[in-house]
Amino acid sequence: MMYVSAIRMAGHRKGKVIKMKKLILLPLVLAVVLSVAACGTEPQESGGQRGFKTAVEGKLTMATNAAFPPYEYIEGGKVAGIDAEIAAAIAEKLGLELQIDDMEFDSITEALKGGKADIGLAGMTVTPDRQEEVNFTVSYATGVQVIIVKEDSAIKSLEDLKAQGANHVVGVQRNTTGDLYTTKDIENAGLGKIDRYSKGADAIQALKTGKVDCVVIDNEPAKAFVSEVEGLKILETEYIIEEYAAAMNKENIELYEAVNTALQELIQDGTVQTIIDRYITAN
Ligand code: GLN
Repeated sequence: MMYVSAIRMAGHRKGKVIKMKKLILLPLVLAVVLSVAACGTEPQESGGQRGFKTAVEGKLTMATNAAFPPYEYIEGGKVAGIDAEIAAAIAEKLGLELQIDDMEFDSITEALKGGKADIGLAGMTVTPDRQEEVNFTVSYATGVQVIIVKEDSAIKSLEDLKAQGANHVVGVQRNTTGDLYTTKDIENAGLGKIDRYSKGADAIQALKTGKVDCVVIDNEPAKAFVSEVEGLKILETEYIIEEYAAAMNKENIELYEAVNTALQELIQDGTVQTIIDRYITAN
């Protein structure tokens, strides 16, 4: 508007030159007007309408595999643990009710891709392959793949496990990163065999009964499992260090941004660390 009246006023004095200037300025004026109008149509929190869509209106649906203590496990018929608490804090920030769906670890990605769940929180490691399927938020914790053996085992290090001709049988939870790495390093390299279980605890039982020679799994569940089964120990050797993050649908960008921002805030203000400290004592 300012441009137009300035041109008009000047027009009284300078005839033709002004007409040309008008032609040049008109698109500019239109652009300003249009961009101001566009601001008004951006997603806003009006009339209960948020700028994002969830699987179930008003709810944040979390997909997990509640067999991974202390991140997620069943307690009193409900899913408890670090991930459940972090999800609750995110849901609260977004004004949503948290709903937790317990499923096979394998099924979490599909639930996210199909829009049946909004957020996958399952001590899930960020890997390049998974990044093809889902979007990962910022990382909220570090995990370490460790090796669990019987107390009197001949396997004392990662080198022993990968030794030529050793032919060990390694127990893992199916499709976890423990499975991924040992399949590549041991099975595909012809150095041994991998036995895959749907639960980490089942792999531990297989170790106890001698069906497998060791189990490769994340350090925190490893501690939880070993504390409950006699005669097992965790080797000092770290197989690999990883980052845990929440997985989300790749297309639902608005929800991804909202969740990622909420999680970042919860990390920054110390909420996430407080939750983790309640379950994991520093050592
Ligand atoms: N961190 C491992 C992975 O992402 C294991 C996760 C789990 O079993 N819940 O594969």
